[in-house]
Amino acid sequence: MSETVQTKDMAEYVQVAPGNYVIRTGNYSLNSGLVVGRTKAMVIDTGAGPRQASLIYRTVRSLTKLPLVVVNTHSHFDHIFGNAYFADNGVHDFYAQRNCAHDMAETAKLQRGMVADTEPEMAAGNGPHTGIKVPTKPVDQELTVNLGDMPVKLFYLGRGHTDGDLLVGTPSTLFAGDLVEQGAPPAFEDSYPRDWVETLRRVSSLRHEYDVLVPGHGQTVSDAFVRSMWETMNMAVRQAEQASRETPGDSTKAIPILPYGPLQSRALLKRLQTPPR
Ligand SMILES: [Zn+2]
Repeated sequence: MSETVQTKDMAEYVQVAPGNYVIRTGNYSLNSGLVVGRTKAMVIDTGAGPRQASLIYRTVRSLTKLPLVVVNTHSHFDHIFGNAYFADNGVHDFYAQRNCAHDMAETAKLQRGMVADTEPEMAAGNGPHTGIKVPTKPVDQELTVNLGDMPVKLFYLGRGHTDGDLLVGTPSTLFAGDLVEQGAPPAFEDSYPRDWVETLRRVSSLRHEYDVLVPGHGQTVSDAFVRSMWETMNMAVRQAEQASRETPGDSTKAIPILPYGPLQSRALLKRLQTPPR
């Protein structure tokens, strides 16, 4: 892996494989991806508003002048609210899993309040590049986007962190969005925990296909990390289910035994009780 590079007015970035970069921005320790082919380049996740997006965009433009396409890995604000900035800078093609595209159209406005501290203009919906730009290219089934000598596979492995997590696989690198999260516990708020366990197993089964795995937040990780995340979540789901059988009506009794902090344990228990859509 190359060294991390940081220049004034740009985000920190690292080349993880030829033509594959991770652009790290401080807000939420977000990992955006950049994949550069011969004729086009792809940006994966655009930040929480125009401030973060402009940092990501400047960094992208220091690395390539090629036309851009954008992928949103899922519909959470920190991955999508920079879309308008990219659209206003000439990007037409925004890819996302179909459920994600649908969810963005429904919930993006409601998510504005989440960025009041970091992106006040986005929170208020007032100012340049603060519109909600929903994906123009909803992805139903596996799709390969060719950037020119750089085929990039967009695919879905099932529900997990949300019901619309799109994975991005280049010849060397898997960008996993928040299905895999390093440096923070998994975020269960919109998740399908039982399905997420199975989806993580599927991510791990791809370990021989990629040299690098980039999570949605934090450092690049090994397959051992994914398996450990899977084992922990599998155990947590079983423990929570057992506790709710033993003390029906008060699943919060399980919180002290679960392998996460109280906030995440509460979110996990709540989502385990949510009937599947
Ligand atoms: Zn997320």
